[in-house]
Amino acid sequence: GGAEGARAGRGARLMTAVSVEGLWKGFHDRRRDDVLVALQDVSLTIEDNEFVCVLGPSGCGKSTLLRILAGLEEADRGTVTMAARPSVVFQDHGVLPWLTVEQNVEYPLRLRGVRRSARRERVAPLLDMVGLTEFRGFYPHQLSGGMRQRTSVARALADDGATLLMDEPFGALDEQTRVVLQQELLKIWSQTSRSVLFITHSVDEALVLADRVVVMSARPGRILADVRVPFDRPRDILE
Ligand code: ADP
Ligand code: MG
Repeated sequence: GGAEGARAGRGARLMTAVSVEGLWKGFHDRRRDDVLVALQDVSLTIEDNEFVCVLGPSGCGKSTLLRILAGLEEADRGTVTMAARPSVVFQDHGVLPWLTVEQNVEYPLRLRGVRRSARRERVAPLLDMVGLTEFRGFYPHQLSGGMRQRTSVARALADDGATLLMDEPFGALDEQTRVVLQQELLKIWSQTSRSVLFITHSVDEALVLADRVVVMSARPGRILADVRVPFDRPRDILE
């Protein structure tokens, strides 16, 4: 069965970080009493330490794919295998409202039993990177949408060892902040060997970030192309 299959391989040791095979997902459309096919036979792999962007128009099933990878949604058919646990940055609402900025960022470390002083040491440079050091004691309701999003990005980066699943994480940010975070994400990625699946609808963003770009079609979401990005690293995003 698809649902069982989609869970079976989580945590297995593999050469590839993420392997998706023949994924199908439909949603019941109550208005038309019909099934809307969100994902149609989607297959892709992400090698260890590879940065893959999934590019596609709005509504093509990108978030559905990510939610299945994160274990938040069940596929109708197909299998998902992940070598490491996922750490997710959602399109929005990615922070815990009862924790401060700093507590949100260190949350994955706390879950793993890392001591308070070691947590603080680890998250300080990340808070600095996303420009939230002076807001570290603030709660999410006291922040702008962009600041909440930056908190969510810093938290995923703090979660060492996890495969990063990022759903248009910079989509709602202003241009300047976006470029800074793209640059910092690449820096951290190159320093810490992580596998990344990064969803975007921006061709530019995919080209500056990715090793490979997986292009999806509009509904039903299918994979149209899987293209290696020919630019050398390190990359200067502004260039
Ligand atoms: P994207 O992230 O590429 O914009 P989504 O994965 O969010 O696309 O959605 C793909 C399609 O599936 C859309 O047509 C959307 O309306 C539909 N869809 C997504 N989630 C649900 C759901 N929980 N119930 C019904 N339809 C959904
Ligand atoms: Mg989406």
